[in-house]
Amino acid sequence: MQLLLKRDDLIHPDISGNKWRKLKHNLAEAHRLGHTTLLTFGGAFSNHIAATAVGAQLFGFKAIGIIRGEAHYQSNPTLSFAKSHGMLLDFVSREAYAAKDDPQFIEMLVAKYGAIYVIPEGGANELGVLGCSEIMDELPESVDAIATAIGTGTTFLGLLKNSKPHQQTLGIAVLKGFEAFELSVRHDLDEFDGKILHTYHFGGYAKYTAELIQFINDFKGHTGIALDPIYTGKMMYGVFDLITSGYFAKGTTVVALHTGGLQGIAGFNERHGQLVL
Ligand SMILES: *Cc1c(COP(=O)(O)O)cnc(C)c1O
Repeated sequence: MQLLLKRDDLIHPDISGNKWRKLKHNLAEAHRLGHTTLLTFGGAFSNHIAATAVGAQLFGFKAIGIIRGEAHYQSNPTLSFAKSHGMLLDFVSREAYAAKDDPQFIEMLVAKYGAIYVIPEGGANELGVLGCSEIMDELPESVDAIATAIGTGTTFLGLLKNSKPHQQTLGIAVLKGFEAFELSVRHDLDEFDGKILHTYHFGGYAKYTAELIQFINDFKGHTGIALDPIYTGKMMYGVFDLITSGYFAKGTTVVALHTGGLQGIAGFNERHGQLVL
C-alpha cells in the first residue's frame, strides 16, 4: 500500500490547513454582502481564532473573537497572536458561550458591535463544508481512502460530499463521544457512508499520553514534518495504527490530510512543558 500526505499545513504560514478551506468562501460571502466586520467564536487556544484574525486582516475586514471563559489566558501565544493581527477579543463565561448559537445571543452581539458577518465556531457552516470539499478536487481518482482529524466534522463532511463512490472517508475523532448526529453542519445523514473512528482521541480533546508525544516527535525526526498534539498527531497516529493492524487492503492508496494547526504547539508546550519538539 501507499501512504500520501496532503500538505494543507503549507497553504499559508498563519491561515493553515482546513481553517483556510473553511474561511475562504465565508470571506467571499462577507465581502459580497458588504460586511466590513467578521465575528467568530473559539477557545483560548483555537486555531480558528488565529486563522480568522490573520484572514480578516489580510482581506481588510475588522475581526472580533468571542472567547470562551479563561480571561487569564489573555496573553497566551494564540490570543496574543490574534490580538497582534488586530482581532478584538471579547471574553464570555462558559455558560454564555454554550448559548453562542442562540438567536438572542447573536442579537445581543449585533446590538453591541453593529453589522457583523458571523462565522460559527471552527468555521463550521455550509460554506466551510464547501471549501473543504474542494480538497478532493486536488487529489487523483486513484486515491482509495482519505483520513482527517474530526473536531466539528466540517472537514470530514466536505471530503465525504466530494469523494467518489470507491473512495473511503475516514474521520479520526479527537474528542471523546463525538457523535455523527452532533455534526454541527447538518447533512443528509442517510447518505452518511464515511467512517468515524473513536479509538484515537487519547482520552478526549487536548488530552494526550507519552506515547502520542513520542509518536509526534519521532514522526518529525523521520520526516521533518511537524504534527500538532490536538489534531494531526492523533490523526496520523491512527492512520499508522490502522496500517500496521492490516486495516487497509493490499495495494490501497491512502491519503492522510495534514490539516495544519501548528500554531497550537506553542500554547500546548506552555501548558505542559516543552513536550512537542
Ligand atoms: C480545527 C482543526 C481540525 C478539525 O476540523 P473540523 O472541520 O472542525 O472537524 C482538524 N485539524 C486541525 C489542525 C484543526 O485546526
